[in-house]
Formats: sequence, structure tokens, C-alpha cells
Amino acid sequence: MTVRTRVAPSPTGDPHVGTAYVALFNYCFAKANGGEFILRIEDTDQVRSTQASEKMIMDALRWVGLNWDEGPDVGGPCGPYRQSERSELYQKYAQQLLDADHAFRCFLTPAELAEVRAQHQASGAKTAMPNPYSEITRDESDALAASGKPFVVRMRVPTDGICTVHDLLRGDIEIAWDQVDMQVLLKSDGMPTYHLANVVDDHHMGITHVLRGEEWISSAPKHLLLYQYFGWEAPTLCHLPLLRNPDRSKLSKRKNPTSILYYQRMGYLPEALLNYLGRMAWSMPDESEQFDLSTMIEHFSLERISLGGPIFDVTKLDWLNGTWIRDELSDDEFMDRVVKWAVNRDYLKAVIPLVRPRINKWSDLPGHAALFLEGLVDITADSLESKGLEQDDVRRVLCYSLWALDGLTDWTGEAINGALRKTAELMDLKLRVFLSPLFIAISGKKNSTPLFNTLAILGRDLTRARLRNAINVIKPMSGKEQTRWKKQYDALQHSDEQDG
Ligand code: GLU
Repeated sequence: MTVRTRVAPSPTGDPHVGTAYVALFNYCFAKANGGEFILRIEDTDQVRSTQASEKMIMDALRWVGLNWDEGPDVGGPCGPYRQSERSELYQKYAQQLLDADHAFRCFLTPAELAEVRAQHQASGAKTAMPNPYSEITRDESDALAASGKPFVVRMRVPTDGICTVHDLLRGDIEIAWDQVDMQVLLKSDGMPTYHLANVVDDHHMGITHVLRGEEWISSAPKHLLLYQYFGWEAPTLCHLPLLRNPDRSKLSKRKNPTSILYYQRMGYLPEALLNYLGRMAWSMPDESEQFDLSTMIEHFSLERISLGGPIFDVTKLDWLNGTWIRDELSDDEFMDRVVKWAVNRDYLKAVIPLVRPRINKWSDLPGHAALFLEGLVDITADSLESKGLEQDDVRRVLCYSLWALDGLTDWTGEAINGALRKTAELMDLKLRVFLSPLFIAISGKKNSTPLFNTLAILGRDLTRARLRNAINVIKPMSGKEQTRWKKQYDALQHSDEQDG
């Protein structure tokens, strides 16, 4: 049997370090066993999936050095590798499940569903929610469907007994069937949910081993049941421990940069990032800390995966990256890498229009261009003091700006301009007063290149990191404060929507 593994990202945002982590383990396992590694794009969520995100994810995986044998761009014998192009297949299998009575049509409207859920919760029952439409006859169901009433297709799930999920790392995990809900397989628009598409594709793509994040353990019973309903052999499951913030919570961008683009932008070497991700749940037999991808493959074995929650700690990554930069690159490679990073024509082309009006001679350039090369800028609580604003107002400006920018789908100077102006208005502050702490947080100076276009060039992640750093430099936010401010911020937005 040829080992075939896959990584199956959903293209709904920036490329996440967790995707590279899972891809790395799948890649190593496949290559260590002479197998194949596949990229599948799980874009069944038509509202949140974008082509831009798909491209960023593919570019980021290539950048770290994980190339796939089959995928949407390189093709392969089991294509298409984008789920949105395979919907007929899922519909066929949903129909097959309906015909075999392994699934049923659910005609509950969203309001009715909420009602059933509320009643179920109020009853104090500890089991998965019942569904009135699981009881109706096939004729009744056909008649309702023929009348044009919208429906979703849900899978039938046993109400008693235990499902045993065998996990390569954890052994047998027992989950009671009465805890497993009657999962929607096909949505009312005819698109599959993750669960159906994932099982159908893993089977059709000949995936032998599924290595994925442990957040999917609770979905495993549904998947195993679907394999059983279809009469297919299930792949071997292996759930990798989740990456965590230093405070042990699940790695999240609110506490830690999570986008691969951020690490690229900060000047981490792809080899070092991959090396660090490799050390998250795995170690070399000789415990050596620095290793490259081929060495990891050579020594890879699942037995060396440890289940303790691995902590993604940027300080440790810094140290590791430093060893790579200092020890592993020849002078020529060093130069090439710096050029590739940010001293190249593409990047300079973006920066020049902003710095040109400010210089008289070349030696003025570093002062104005530094903020485009730096990571976090040098600021203190004093330097962030802004005329007309109390210290807490400054923090609030920074914090509200962060939230306003987080809500943007387009990251352009124009969109940033709109979001920040609106925030200033909501806070009832003159634009000049509002922008003053932002200038300092981003550039370290009172005056710098035009803010909106500067942020557009710096990118989301570095912008977020500098704003968060500025807040922390004055005074870190407590969880309580954050919740209170977020409520106030949401209320401002809401009152604006009502006025508008
Ligand atoms: N699309 C899922 C994700 O985004 C894939 C999960 C899996 O590997 O089954 O993580």
C-alpha cells in the first residue's frame, strides 16, 4: 500500500502557521514512507472562501518548502482538488445515503431549529438534540420536498452504544453515540458540509492516513459512521496536538501572530520556521534542536510525537532563526535572502512614493524608510503621549483601531482610511487627534509617511503587532477590560448603524 496523506485547508483567511504545522507532519509521514502528499482545498463554505486566501495558502506552503505531489494547480489522477468543483459527487453520495435511509431530509427553518434547541436545553437532557423530521416517512419527506419546502440532509446517528475511535497516537477513544449530533451533510443550497465532502474526498483520493489537528477528534465518530454507511475502509486517524499560546490557550491571533505572512514579513527563514514547527510535537532521536526538512524525514516516526500541548513561543523561534541566519548561510546566501526579504524592487517600488517627497539626499532615506523594514518599533509610554488625550484614551484609540482594522476584508489604503475615519467619528475625536497616537505606534515618531498607505504596505499582521505592542507598552489590557471595551465598541458601531 502506498501511503497517501493530505493537508486540506479551508481558504477563509490568512495562511495560518497551524496549516503549515499539519502539512509538515503529513509531508514527513508520507515521504518517510515513500508515499505521496496531496493538497486539497476545502472551499465548500462559499461565503467565507476566497481565491485570494487560496493563493496565499499555496504560496505560503511553497515558501516554507512543502511541495505537494497532487493539488489544484499541479493536477493529479484524483482531481479536481478543489471541493467547489466536485459538488456533483457529494450530491450523488448524499442521495445514496437518503435512499439507504442512512440520512433524512430536515425541513426545520432556522427559527424552528433554534426553538427545538432551546426546548432541548431547557429539558436538561445531556444528549444530542433530537430532530422531529428523523421520524417522518419517506413518502411524507418526498411530498414536502416536492412542494418546494427548503431542506438540509442530515445523517442518522445511533442513539445508544459507544463509538470507538482508534487514534494512532492516543489508542482507543470512546465516545457515546448519544453525544453525536445528526450532522448536516448537505446544506439547503445543495453544497456539502465539511464532514461529507471530507469523507468522500479522502476515500476517492485514496488517502491512507489522516493527520490533523486534535480539534477534529469529536467529528471522528461521524466520519467513521459515514465510511461504514458507504462500505468504505476508513483511513488511519492521527490527531496532532494543538499549537498553544504561551499561556496554554489555543494559538490565536489575538495573543500571538498566527499568519505565515507575518513571519515572512518579520524576516524569519522558511527553514527555521519549518524547523520550529517540526519541534512543536516531535523531536529528533538525538534531541538536536536544529534540523532541516530532509533530516526530519530521515528520522521521522510517529512514535516520537508527544501529546503535551506544544507552545508556539516567538522568543524560542527567534533564537532558532538566529542560529540559522548566523551559522547556516554563506555570505552570498545571506545577501540573496536579505534581497528576497525586503530589499528588492517590488518592495521598494511600493515604498518609494511614500518616502520620495520627504528626502533631499540619499542619507535621509534610512530615517524615513526604517519603519518599512523594522519589526516592532521602539516606543515608550512617554513617547506615546498625545496632546488632548489621556493615557487611557490613547489605549482606547489604539484598541478600537485594532478592532476596526481586524474587521476589514480588503487591506488597501482606501479601506484603511475609511475604517479609521469612521472610528474617529464614532469616538467623537478630531481626525488629527485620533491619528496622532497611531502614527507613533506604527512609526515610533510623531511624523512619518502617510499613515493609511503605510499600513497598507506593512500588512495586517505587522500593523496588528505594532498596535498591540503600543497598548502593552502603556499598560496591557486585562481580560475584563477587553470585554468591557469590546462591548462599548460594539455599541458604538451599532448605534451608528441605526442612525445610518
Ligand atoms: N478543512 C479542514 C480544516 O480547515 C480540514 C480538517 C481535516 O484535515 O480533516 O482544518
